[in-house]
Amino acid sequence: MTLTEKILARAAGKSSVQAGDNVWVSADVLMTHDVCGPGTIGVFRREFGSQAKVWDREKVVIIPDHYIFSADSKSNRNVDILREFVQEQGLRYFYDVIDDPHGKWVFDAVKGPVRRQFGSKYAGVCHTALPEKGHTRPGEVLFGTDSHTCTAGAFNEFATGIGNTDAGFVMGTGKLLLKVPATMHFRLEGQLQPGVMAKDLILHIIGEIGFDGATYRAMQFDGPGASSLSLDDRMTVANMAIEAGGKNGIFEFDQKTKEYVDQRCALNGTRAAYTPVERDRDEAFIADLVVDLNRLEPTVACHPDPGQRKLAKQMEQVKLDRAYMGSCTGGKTSDFLAFAKILAGKRVAIDTFGVPATPEIATNLQTIRWGDKTVWQILQDAGVQMTENAGCAACLGGPVDTFGRMNQPLKCISATNRNFPGRMGHKDSQVFLASPATVAASALTGKITDPRTFIA
Ligand code: SF4
Repeated sequence: MTLTEKILARAAGKSSVQAGDNVWVSADVLMTHDVCGPGTIGVFRREFGSQAKVWDREKVVIIPDHYIFSADSKSNRNVDILREFVQEQGLRYFYDVIDDPHGKWVFDAVKGPVRRQFGSKYAGVCHTALPEKGHTRPGEVLFGTDSHTCTAGAFNEFATGIGNTDAGFVMGTGKLLLKVPATMHFRLEGQLQPGVMAKDLILHIIGEIGFDGATYRAMQFDGPGASSLSLDDRMTVANMAIEAGGKNGIFEFDQKTKEYVDQRCALNGTRAAYTPVERDRDEAFIADLVVDLNRLEPTVACHPDPGQRKLAKQMEQVKLDRAYMGSCTGGKTSDFLAFAKILAGKRVAIDTFGVPATPEIATNLQTIRWGDKTVWQILQDAGVQMTENAGCAACLGGPVDTFGRMNQPLKCISATNRNFPGRMGHKDSQVFLASPATVAASALTGKITDPRTFIA
């Protein structure tokens, strides 16, 4: 069996499964957020009754992150619904934007979109917060009401996005009927060269197979190149499995995985026991591809979908209006460090926004010093508009007052993961997906630029 099949067999209580089997799978964690949480709660109440309790109070994780720092009352109401549900159900893991369990969050115009407007529990973007807060464990099954739930495959688990109806069912029963996906095998060899990042790797792969090339398939990444990647890198790759239509993305378990997971579970007091899955000799793959990381170059996915692959060096005629750093794909500490390395001591030529994925990442950037300045100060000195209000922000557009949202038909180079028309706001805007290094180089020149230009 492949890694995915082994996890699904275990979660279904079977000795083996194969691609195409329909099996009832037990969930280890169900995650929902402010956009889909209210709908999921509605389905749960409708189907199980107004007095029903969730199947396991320790296994439902609620992370508001999408439409948070907005004066839009309907968006704020979504988080109120989550808060009321958590109170009623006695859920343990709710990363609320305020500390008062009976309060309401209100936009503070004095602090505006840039200064911190959240309490001590707030965790930021769900897919980055889940591992930070100790909710991703090898060998487990994670369902989330968000397509990029596949990010957690970086930790050797089966993680996939589900709709509100399925999530309402999981909330009540802890189970879901799943068809076992066939596995596409990506053997990674070599290692990433200077100026080339994990984002380039996954954009390269999506370009190879197309933005529907892995539809309802597991994408298994292994080999020496995979081992050379950090956990942040693996998250970037697994995160975008869905941009090829993948059911999930998954990496092997190794010492790096163990150290990260053990440390985060201990830090947060979450369940520490887990059983990883290892590769078998008899894996059956539906496709086999080898990617040599040494040969990759800075890559861009052009408007209007993540499969429109070109090399950054072939795109230098494309003028830009905006650059955007952030999201569950490109808003991690390591992403911002790669971004800052290129911007340090220089000045951006276009509007450039920086949104850390989580408060912990914002704190890291305000703490790590290069010389006499923090990374945060270096970015601000370079002209980047940084916000402390970690979250999804403009990655998916959101209300019109969302920080960094494209309210006009602009061309933007972005470290995010999706660029369908209208994704970041205006329906006639264009989004070019790229690595943090390419976003930084392009912000400096005002046109799409290969970051190796700035690397001595
Ligand atoms: S950062 Fe973007 S892609 Fe990630 S969860 Fe938020 S909206 Fe979705």
